[in-house]
Amino acid sequence: MAHRPDPKCPVRPGDTCSLCYPGASGPEDCGLVWLVREDPELSAELARLRAEAAADRSH
Ligand code: SF4
Repeated sequence: MAHRPDPKCPVRPGDTCSLCYPGASGPEDCGLVWLVREDPELSAELARLRAEAAADRSH
């Protein structure tokens, strides 16, 4: 665990996973990530956030 590279949180663009979701051991088994992926509206919101984060980084 200590030697793993910091995984990025899929639902918080630009942030690394802080294991904020109870029971998650990483983005792979994070319940919140699954929830967002399963919900079309949340997925669209996430896509918007990602585009925003990408735009921020290009400044
Ligand atoms: S536990 Fe899930 S929501 Fe929390 S930082 Fe990690 S991937 Fe993101």
